[in-house]
Amino acid sequence: MKLWYFFKLFVFLLIAGLTYQHRDEIMLRVRTAVHAYFPCTIPVTYSLGQFDTQFGLSRADFLMRIATAENAWEDVAGKELFKYVESGGDMTVNLIYDARQQTTEKLQEIGDTISDKKSTYEKLWAEYERLSAELVKEKTAYEREVAQLKNLQSAYQREVARANKRGGAEEAEYDRLETQRLEINKRVAEVNGSLSRLNKTISATNTLGAQVNALVQELKLNVDIYNTTGRTRGEEFSEGEYIYDSEGKRINIYEFSDTTKLARVLIHELGHGIQMEHVEDSDAIMYRLNAGKNDTITEADQAELRRVCRIK
Ligand SMILES: [Zn+2]
Repeated sequence: MKLWYFFKLFVFLLIAGLTYQHRDEIMLRVRTAVHAYFPCTIPVTYSLGQFDTQFGLSRADFLMRIATAENAWEDVAGKELFKYVESGGDMTVNLIYDARQQTTEKLQEIGDTISDKKSTYEKLWAEYERLSAELVKEKTAYEREVAQLKNLQSAYQREVARANKRGGAEEAEYDRLETQRLEINKRVAEVNGSLSRLNKTISATNTLGAQVNALVQELKLNVDIYNTTGRTRGEEFSEGEYIYDSEGKRINIYEFSDTTKLARVLIHELGHGIQMEHVEDSDAIMYRLNAGKNDTITEADQAELRRVCRIK
């Protein structure tokens, strides 16, 4: 009798011991079953897994963003659906830096270069137009001065020829011709000055024109690189994903171009984390593509949450 008692006690302790040893694993299985059969009844706990720092985000900042993303669903459900735990969560959230984010950064860099060059181009082009207008003005003024000088010169030569025909100029006439000659010399100096200014403007305009051209070529090249880089990656790529397999549940975040996109991808993958499916509305967070421009959930998102959580 006593033996039987000890045997029962032994079996009980063995089971209790095994249960204790594997309590985390058992609890995880129990929680996973509850999540599968009674969604939204107990929160899905999550912990941080791989955390790549190249995104320039701190762990605290990333956790804060996940917490904000949680609220998007929790506000609608009116209860806690997700809960952060330091380790051993039902789900792991990973921030993984690879070619996707690298491409995004490269695109942003080229985009910045293009807008810098574009604003330089606009400034240079305005300066080029100003110089061109000045050139036209200077050229017109120069041509007018040359025409006037030619008239003066031929009038002077005609009078000199007339005087010579008469066998020389009288004193008064000589003084007048001399004044004219000096005036012509003065005008010649002025015309030469104008010509030299005109040449400088032509040369400045040409230099600026060459700069503008070079800049246009650089801009074209950068736009080409931008387009090629974007095309190589393709229109559709995974910014994030939710995986549930033999290794458990996890959210992988790979790419975001700004904080709104990050918020959207986090809300989306958290949605999958409580078994939400994709919806048809292209503005919705649960649309298959991250196409929307804000991090507000739509009617379609809310309807999907209510379906999953069985909220009437
Ligand atoms: Zn999805």
